[in-house]
Amino acid sequence: MRKVDKIAWAAGLFEGEGSIVIRPYSRKQVKFFRCNGWTRMLRVAMTDEDVVKKFRDVVGVGKIHPVARKKPHYKDQYVWVCSDWPNIKRILNLFLPFLCARRTAKAFEMLSKPARKPGGITKTHCKRGHPLRGRRANVYITKGGVIHCRACQRVRQDKYKTEGRYFTTAQYFHDYYLNQKKANAA
Ligand SMILES: [Zn+2]
Repeated sequence: MRKVDKIAWAAGLFEGEGSIVIRPYSRKQVKFFRCNGWTRMLRVAMTDEDVVKKFRDVVGVGKIHPVARKKPHYKDQYVWVCSDWPNIKRILNLFLPFLCARRTAKAFEMLSKPARKPGGITKTHCKRGHPLRGRRANVYITKGGVIHCRACQRVRQDKYKTEGRYFTTAQYFHDYYLNQKKANAA
């Protein structure tokens, strides 16, 4: 088989059985890396181990791991995964000429996702529009790297004072604690 034919075969398999996974970091990941970013990987899941192995040999990278059946009438699966960015780029560029519309769009979306930016959350304003960066930012940053807006905290406190409703669980438990104390004293 010529190399081009091998790649065409792999691209066809990928079109049918593969997936392009792009998802924003979970809260845990944001805390751990201290910034926003994207989880990016290529995946091929099949019940035939030899086919997945052949695919791996053609593209030259990635890991294969077995996944146990999720329901009794399913079969065990073999999953090829590549999460190494230079190789993702290389493989997608190899496959692009062979892919059809939906996956081509997804491939371009994947290629446009930036690597994570070290050194901070990429958000510049909170949900109420207060600045989170720069000289006018009024924020505090927890050990985990999460930015909290002090202006919003003030808004919640004022609402609580005027409307008497709970806007944070902290306020609720503060009152609960005071009531308990009163009850114990009586
Ligand atoms: Zn705010």
